[in-house]
Amino acid sequence: PSPGSFAHTFWPGRVVFGAGALERVGDEVAALGVRRVLVIATNSARDAADAVETQLGDLFAGRIDGVTQHVPTEVADAARTKARDVTADAIVAIGGGSAIGLAKAVALTSPPLNRLDGAGPAASTGGTGGGGGVVYAGGVGGGAVAGGGGVVIVAVPTTYAGSEMTPVWGETAGGSKTTGVDSRVLPRVVVYDPVLSQGLPLKVTAASVANAIAHCVEAVWTPKADPITEMVAVEGLRALSAGLRAVLVEPEDLDARGKLLYGACLAGSALATAGTGLHHKLCHLLGGTYGLPHAETHAAVLPQVVRVNAPAVPQSAARLAAALRDSAPPTTGRQASGELDRAGGAGSAGGAAGAGGGDGAEGLARELFGLFEGAGVAVGLRGLGLTEAQADEAAVGFSVVGNPVAVDEDVVREILRRALDGVRP
Ligand code: NAD
Repeated sequence: PSPGSFAHTFWPGRVVFGAGALERVGDEVAALGVRRVLVIATNSARDAADAVETQLGDLFAGRIDGVTQHVPTEVADAARTKARDVTADAIVAIGGGSAIGLAKAVALTSPPLNRLDGAGPAASTGGTGGGGGVVYAGGVGGGAVAGGGGVVIVAVPTTYAGSEMTPVWGETAGGSKTTGVDSRVLPRVVVYDPVLSQGLPLKVTAASVANAIAHCVEAVWTPKADPITEMVAVEGLRALSAGLRAVLVEPEDLDARGKLLYGACLAGSALATAGTGLHHKLCHLLGGTYGLPHAETHAAVLPQVVRVNAPAVPQSAARLAAALRDSAPPTTGRQASGELDRAGGAGSAGGAAGAGGGDGAEGLARELFGLFEGAGVAVGLRGLGLTEAQADEAAVGFSVVGNPVAVDEDVVREILRRALDGVRP
């Protein structure tokens, strides 16, 4: 396709990927030139945090074990105090979006570090918000010298949420979550080690993958969508759907876990450059106001939003559908009659795609629904605790800028009602 005209901001960052990559965290941290490292680790990653602590040697300054979802302000304040007490100039965050989110909350309130603001295109060009055009002294990764009292992040993700690739932060106070974009929270180095997610329970895996898939899909229609981001998003969806189908059959398959992490990396990159739109805003509202679980909500809402939006971006939808089709198992043979069909649906989703039913807009919504259904991720918001009255209430006054289809209250109510009952697109 012709690229047309567009603007795309590449966010700086270094990615180190591979089974066993955890062993390289110490060297990556040392290459940043930092001196005092705080380790923040989710409870499930205590062993990995022990290993990192050993690698860090004299650079190790302190540790926070255990994190809470959605970064409550009191938890963030405690982490900021700890970071100040140990005079941290770097954080190694090991875990899912919650651990990385906590590290971001600390980095956000640190003075700017190693930045030459204003070098490159100005943020005011509107690119990606606050941090557009920020250049890091010394380049990204090895060789940059820290100084000035700020905190840089090295992220070691163990789920597929993708936060490690974005400059997006979030903090919750009084039941309401505030989010923003700031280059200071973008991790300087991301170390992806599929071994760390080998034991992630299938239920958590599937929901987290749905979250990542939502980043890829929404990235093709936000106002900041562009051909470079779409390429990343389509490839991300291909890797995520292939990896998900494979881990449902063999949960500890390292190659499949690698595909999922690779997909999460691409999904996070797509989110970082495309930003959010109708889908993420709806999920954010549902999570913030009604306390619905983050990742599962994405699985319930995405197919219904795709049903509405995909017809307005038919070429992009077809490319996404083709990526799903690529990763679908053959409709005959062992895989097609295995776990996916038993779980009830992804097998048929693969079949529909394989038979050409996945072309275009409607096919994409149906296939995503089938993939999530087959993976056992709740496909109805009612099952997550939302009532019909709440769904209707959420639609009232909801607005989104730049959606490819005009959405009024009626459209949003229909999306939410269908998501409530998990109506097949
Ligand atoms: P999470 O970090 O809360 O992890 C989910 C659960 O899985 C936790 O109980 C955790 O302890 C456990 N876990 C994590 N890794 C594990 C492993 N390898 N093995 C076993 N258990 C493991 O959830 P999440 O879905 O990764 O992240 C959700 C949070 O991230 C939300 O607050 C969301 O808003 C945020 N998020 C932010 C961005 C961004 O760009 N800022 C992007 C996506 C998500």
